[in-house]
Amino acid sequence: MNPRFNALQLTGKRNRSLGKELTSVSTSEIFATHVFNQHVMQKMLPREIFRNVQEAIAGREKIIPEYADPIASAMKEWATKLGATHYCHWFQPLTGAAAEKHDAFIDWETEDQVIEKFSGKQLLQGEPDASSFPSGGLRTTFEARGYTGWDPSSPVFIWEGGDGVTLCIPSIFFSWTGDVLDSKIPLLRSDRKLNEEVLRLLKLTGIEATRAYSTLGLEQEYFVVDRGLRNLRPDLVLAGRTVFGAPSPKGQELQDHYFGCVKDRILAYMREFEVAAFKLGIPVKTRHNEVAPAQHEVAPVFEKASVAVDHNILLMELMRQIALKHDLSCLLHEKPFQGLNGSGKHCNWSISTDTGINLFDPTDSPENNLHFLILLTATLSAVHEHSSLLRAAIGSAGNDFRLGAHEAPPAIISIYLGDQLESIIEAITARGTISSSPKHKYDLGLQVIPDLTKDYTDRNRTSPFAFTGNKFEFRALGSSANPSMAVTVLNTIMSNSLHQILNEIEQNIGEDRSYSNKTLLDASIPIIRKYLLASQAIRFSGDNYSENWEKEAAKRNLPNLRKSIDAFEAFKFPSSTEAFKGILSGSELTSRYEVLLENYAHTVRIEANLMKDMFQTQILPVAIRQQKEIAKTISLLQQINSGLDNTQQKEWLSKLNRLVEEALQNTHLLDEECHAAEKLFFKDKARAYCDKVIPVCQKLREIVDQIEPLVDDGQWPLPKYRELLFMV
Ligand code: ADP
Ligand code: MG
Repeated sequence: MNPRFNALQLTGKRNRSLGKELTSVSTSEIFATHVFNQHVMQKMLPREIFRNVQEAIAGREKIIPEYADPIASAMKEWATKLGATHYCHWFQPLTGAAAEKHDAFIDWETEDQVIEKFSGKQLLQGEPDASSFPSGGLRTTFEARGYTGWDPSSPVFIWEGGDGVTLCIPSIFFSWTGDVLDSKIPLLRSDRKLNEEVLRLLKLTGIEATRAYSTLGLEQEYFVVDRGLRNLRPDLVLAGRTVFGAPSPKGQELQDHYFGCVKDRILAYMREFEVAAFKLGIPVKTRHNEVAPAQHEVAPVFEKASVAVDHNILLMELMRQIALKHDLSCLLHEKPFQGLNGSGKHCNWSISTDTGINLFDPTDSPENNLHFLILLTATLSAVHEHSSLLRAAIGSAGNDFRLGAHEAPPAIISIYLGDQLESIIEAITARGTISSSPKHKYDLGLQVIPDLTKDYTDRNRTSPFAFTGNKFEFRALGSSANPSMAVTVLNTIMSNSLHQILNEIEQNIGEDRSYSNKTLLDASIPIIRKYLLASQAIRFSGDNYSENWEKEAAKRNLPNLRKSIDAFEAFKFPSSTEAFKGILSGSELTSRYEVLLENYAHTVRIEANLMKDMFQTQILPVAIRQQKEIAKTISLLQQINSGLDNTQQKEWLSKLNRLVEEALQNTHLLDEECHAAEKLFFKDKARAYCDKVIPVCQKLREIVDQIEPLVDDGQWPLPKYRELLFMV
């Protein structure tokens, strides 16, 4: 039998529920039990050491070296009780995924006996061979030394995978020469820089806080398909997306999946990964079906940005691994299915203080919210000045398929603020009114803001960067991405524009340190107005999906970087190097650019080879057999009665013949283009894959998708869209 039918039969027999053990667990009882959490630390560590660790978590102190041994020993004791046999430094190299190298907790006790041991030195630093991680030219293979170092700001956790239990130490990763080789260091540095500028702002405007940091809430979209069906598709196995596939007669047009009842089998799966996430202290809160069939979303409650990023990486891994237990496959690719919605990872981003104020929530401090207006202005200015850099931060071959199609934001970066904020900005920027009665108008502008609650801002789902009442939602990020770079760029450009604005306001105030509220407003409003006017082009409230917006954006001189490889250039802009001072050096930024380009070329090459392979070995044989069948039938019928009319059958045959010929021509062309691209280097190579290879891939797909409905369903080897999307 065609293995496809076997797999289809099996989908009906899969387990659809969890045992009582998992369905009835209490969230509060299991939450963070696999984390070396505050409660555990307080119990296990001497008071002074506990204090030091808490300060290190908050970023105010370094771990005192003499304390490392007792901390490591407590961690080991706690972890071995939970079954851990190994430890690892868990870090995020530029591959985008997490990396880990496990070491057993062993040390020689006597010549032939070991004991379980974990030292402070092992906790603080690791030395994985760095030679095989991408560095974008920062480090050649003969200088392979790379170091990992414990990052106390992110919680230490226990990972259970297969039958292994490992103590994981979240770490940073850098080279012997001190170059940054990971995505964590820049994120932490950008947060520190943001902290400095925001504290300056709060001091100026009289708001109490000793620390400010970015917060991040990630809405993760994903598809889930039956694993048996997925295993029959080499494209899903190797590329995470379908490179062929005719549309299903029913797609997402009825919208009956969105927020619909979650199927039992999916719910059992969701529940199991939620339980695992809770144990790791990941506050997963929301789950629902998304617009496309087989598409879903999970969203944890927001956290400090660097912790939220770690949690997102862990959550994606849990989702992948736990799917296997349910004979499912979790697809995190941005565009697994052509013609249907892609998957994004919405970054809800804001800035909080240690005193509990959400600085993008004007209702959090209604009596005094000049800081809100300044932050808003700084955001508009930052995004306006660095929109290409933001586009670069979310670029990838996968996300290019998603952006600008089916309910995904376009590649043009713009900001949606909602009517209320727009009218406040209008009032401030309309020079005449302000200068005629400054005091009155300032108050008007500022007093309106407190009335603004979340529900006052209309939803504009089409905007890539929308203010949603108490935070910004950056929707352009792709589902599979490590969100670090996007948040690092946001924090970085925000710090820079705040820096400029605050400098100018302070200059206006002059030497007087005991300025009144009025002095502060008089000094601030003209600067705010200036920056609002300069960044006007970035504000857009209309439909971002419309063609008119593309034209309008062009008039406004906003970059429209449809292809990621064009956007990546922004990492090398002098303005980016300037903004990234103290976070990443020019050569470190260039290394990101090179890693991204390389990754892009690899991805396209893999998909091109896959297409060629699948066409030649799976699709062509079926198509040829079909041609033979039709040809044989026509000729037999002619033998029986030469007067029979076979026009339509001949038509069918010649259509199939034409498509097979065209597909063969295109596979040939694909081969040539890939060979030519491989001879080039870096930028030229990526450009060739983008401009020469992808169009041939698209053409080949168009042809093959026309062959699919013309041939015997019984022979078709690849699970079809209708099966992948609806048979769970
Ligand atoms: P919706 O956008 O659907 O109305 P919510 O407002 O609850 O839903 O938020 C969506 C996401 O935004 C959630 O992940 C939530 O935790 C996150 N979020 C809410 N407030 C903040 C904040 N201050 N900073 C960062 N993320 C936030
Ligand atoms: Mg949302």
